[in-house]
Amino acid sequence: MKLKVGILGATGMVGQRFIEQLNDHPWFKIEALCASERSAGKKYSEAANWYLESRIPDEIADMTVEKIDPAVSDRLDFVFSAIPSDIAKDIEGGFAKHIPVFSNTATYRMDEDIPLAIPEVNPDHLNLVNVQKENRGWEGFIVTNPNCTTIGFITPLKPIMDAFGIDWVNLATMQALSGAGYAGVPSMAIIDNVIPFIKNEEEKAELEGLKILGQLRDNKIKFADFDVFASCNRVMVRNGHTEAVFVRTQEDFRIEDVKEEFSSFKGEPQKLNLPTAPEQPVIVMGEEDRPQPALDRDLGDGMSISVGRIRKKKEKLLKFTCLSHNTIRGAAGASVLNAELARAMKLI
Ligand code: NAP
Repeated sequence: MKLKVGILGATGMVGQRFIEQLNDHPWFKIEALCASERSAGKKYSEAANWYLESRIPDEIADMTVEKIDPAVSDRLDFVFSAIPSDIAKDIEGGFAKHIPVFSNTATYRMDEDIPLAIPEVNPDHLNLVNVQKENRGWEGFIVTNPNCTTIGFITPLKPIMDAFGIDWVNLATMQALSGAGYAGVPSMAIIDNVIPFIKNEEEKAELEGLKILGQLRDNKIKFADFDVFASCNRVMVRNGHTEAVFVRTQEDFRIEDVKEEFSSFKGEPQKLNLPTAPEQPVIVMGEEDRPQPALDRDLGDGMSISVGRIRKKKEKLLKFTCLSHNTIRGAAGASVLNAELARAMKLI
C-alpha cells in the first residue's frame, strides 16, 4: 500500500514540482495539499499559479487546499515541506512531533542532529534521525536537502574529493529565476540584467557542503576541512543553475581520470534502484559549449547534474562548469529521493 503524504507549501514553485514528482509515484500518494490562508479553502487549480509545462493532474486540480496545521498529520504518513524558511521553525517542528518531515527550507539544515542529505553523497547521515528523535522527544523527525546551489556543485565534488582530495573550492554561480520563488525577482529588475547578489546564498554555498561531505562518527558530523569561496548571481533563466567551479586538489590528476570519476560516480539510490534515482547522477558533456540550461537541465528527468568544460589549468588546479535543475534536483526531486532512501532504510 502507498504511503500517504502531504505537501506544505503546495502552491509554490517547489510545491508544484512536488506534485509533478509524486504524480503516479509507486510508493507515495498525495493526500493533503497545504498552503497559506490566502489559498486555504480554494480548489488547487484556483489557488496555484501553475508555471510548469506539464498540466496539473486532474485529481490534484480538484483537491481543496488546506491551511497548514499539524492536525493534518493524523491522516498522513509523512510530509514534504516547501514553505518560506522564516515560518518553518514552528511549523516543521510541530509536524515532526508526530510524523517525519522532508524539508527544503534552510531553517534546520545546520542543526547538529538534523541530516542534511544528498542520497548519492552521504546516505549514512540519515541515521542521525534516531539521535534526533531521542534528543527532541519527537515521534517523527526532520531530514533536509541542501540549497539548490549547494547540491549542484557538491555532488560532482564528492568523487573528486574521494579520488584526489580537495584544498579549496572557488565558485561563481548563474542562478535561475525560479530559485527565488514565484513572486521572486520583479521583471523590471532582471530583464536585460544580471544581479550579483542573492541574500544568504553565498553563506549557504560555503557551509552546507562541508557538512554533507563530512564524516558521521559517534553520532556527530565532523565537517570536511577545506574552504569554499562563492559568488552568487541571479540571471534571466527560468530554470537551471549554472556554476563555474575551480578546485585546488591535494593530489595531481589527469583530465581523463577526472572525467572517468564523474561518469562512473554512483551511489545508494542507483544501487537500490530507487524509483526517481537517475541512472547517472553526473553526466559529462563533451561539447565545448555545454552544459546549457535551455538544453541540458532536464537530463535524467531533471535529476542528473551535467558537467562540462573540464580543464586542467596547471598542476592540481581543476576547472569545470556544472548545471543542475534547481527546482527538481535542487529542491523537490532531492526531497523525494531522500524519502525514497529513508523508505529503503526502513526509517519510514
Ligand atoms: P514560493 O514559490 O514563494 O512558495 C511558497 C509556498 O509557501 C507557497 O505554497 C505559499 O502558499 C506558502 N506560504 C507562504 N507564506 C506562508 C505562510 N505564512 N503560511 C503558510 N504557507 C505559506 O517559494 P519556493 O521557491 O517554492 O520555495 C519554498 C521553500 O523551498 C523556501 O524555503 C525556499 O528557500 C526553498 N527552496 C527553493 C528552491 C527553488 O529553487 N525555488 C530550491 C531549494 C529550496 P500561498 O501560495 O498560499 O502563498
